[in-house]
This record gives sequence, C-alpha cells and structure tokens, in this order.
Amino acid sequence: MANISIRNVSKSYGALNVLRPFSLEIENGEFVVLVGPSGCGKSTMLKILAGLEPATEGQIFIGDREVTDLAPGDRDIAMVFQNYALYPHLTVRQNIGFGLKMRGTDKTEIDRRVDDAARILEVTPYLDRKPKDLSGGQRQRVALGRAIVRQPQAFLMDEPLSNLDAKLRVNMRAEIGALHKRIGVTTVYVTHDQVEAMTMADRVVIMQGGIIQQIAAPDELFNNPANLFVAGFIGSPG
Ligand code: ADP
Ligand code: MG
Repeated sequence: MANISIRNVSKSYGALNVLRPFSLEIENGEFVVLVGPSGCGKSTMLKILAGLEPATEGQIFIGDREVTDLAPGDRDIAMVFQNYALYPHLTVRQNIGFGLKMRGTDKTEIDRRVDDAARILEVTPYLDRKPKDLSGGQRQRVALGRAIVRQPQAFLMDEPLSNLDAKLRVNMRAEIGALHKRIGVTTVYVTHDQVEAMTMADRVVIMQGGIIQQIAAPDELFNNPANLFVAGFIGSPG
C-alpha cells in the first residue's frame, strides 16, 4: 500500500469547469471519504485517480511514482463501483480470481490468493456458487474480493453501497470498516451520504461545485465546520 498525492488537479469538459485545482495528501493506510452533493465532482476525481479520465492539469503520485499519464492497469490500484457486475456464468472462485487469470498468474497462486481473500471476506462457503445464488450482501463481498485479491496499493470505491437496501448498507459499512482495519490498504471512498462519510472516514473531504470546502477528521468537522455549507451539509450545530 502507499500514500496518494493529488497536486493541483483540475478538470474541465470543454467550457465546463468540473474540478477547480484540487490538492489532497492521503497517508499510507488512511481511509479518506470524498463527500458532497450530486454533481460536485466526486466521481470525476476518482476516475482521474484511477486513470479512467485524464486530468486537465495537475499531477498524481501513488507512493513515489508519478502516475498522471499511466493507464489504469499500470497504476496498481483496484476500483469497486456501485454497479459491481459479477460474471453470471462464473463461480465465486472464478469471479474473484478473474483479474489474476487475465494477468497470467499461475493456477496454484490464484487458488492461494482467492482462498485468502475468501477467508478475509467470509465467503469461503460460497466459492462454488454462481452469483445468482448469492444474497446482495454476499455479492458485494465477492466484488470486494475481486479488488483485494490483486493486493493493490490502494482501493478506490465509488458509492459501492448505494444499490443495497438500508439495513444491508449499514452492515456493509461496518464490514468495509473491519476489512480496512484488517488489511489496512489506503482507501479513497466516494459517497453522497454524510452519515456514511462521518462513520467510515479517518478524514472527510467535503466538496461542493468542484471545490474542497473542508478536509478534516469527522469529530473536527462536527465541532469546527469551516463554513455554513459544511455545517449544513453534515448537520452540525455549527
Ligand atoms: P458526482 O460524482 O459528485 O455526482 P461527477 O463527478 O459525476 O459528480 O460530475 C461532476 C460534474 O461533471 C457534473 O456537472 C457532471 O454533469 C459533469 N460531467 C461528468 N462527466 C462528464 C462528461 N463526460 N462530460 C461532460 N460533463 C461531465
Ligand atoms: Mg458520482
């Protein structure tokens, strides 16, 4: 795992300025949540980190390595999206191991790493099932398994729980938190849900209209919101 450094990254689509120069230092092993209203630029920032969109300006470092111009597959990060499409015709074992197989990892090593990931996520009993025979929560754990089996330097998660019902969402928050404690991988997590942000983050980045309004630990944010927008957004007494 590694630290992530976002240095003066901006993004425009034609004349539309979506991210103003955006700088953020994320520590090794930190769980940082980007939160803000719909359209504020969260997904755009995550796509730029992943290499799925080019930045208009600025630089990105993962560990000591500048990755600004590297393809997604060369950045050593794993993404978990809201629409975690599992391959319906493959078993859980094959789904988790798919990325390693594509990379040409040998079968014994794939099996070993899939078994480790399955143990961490407690999906070992379902390894031979197909996705249709899993619950929503089990599927989401398999999606996480596909990310952790690659042993990336960092995880990027874009609203990974927003397709789940309210009860499961609360459970999965706790599970992702526990997973992070166990494997400690640097994580950038995007949500529009302030409760999710405040319960999961080491530090929260509050965004509005492509601008960072405040970066702080949840208790600091609650006790000392930088402005009325932040106070209103997180429901602090201000
Ligand atoms: P969020 O994830 O916070 O809801 P996004 O990062 O998806 O916000 O979008 C930020 C802004 O950028 C929005 O105004 C959105 O309409 C715009 N946007 C996103 N992708 C594109 C694109 N490919 N072309 C033009 N505008 C886009
Ligand atoms: Mg989004």
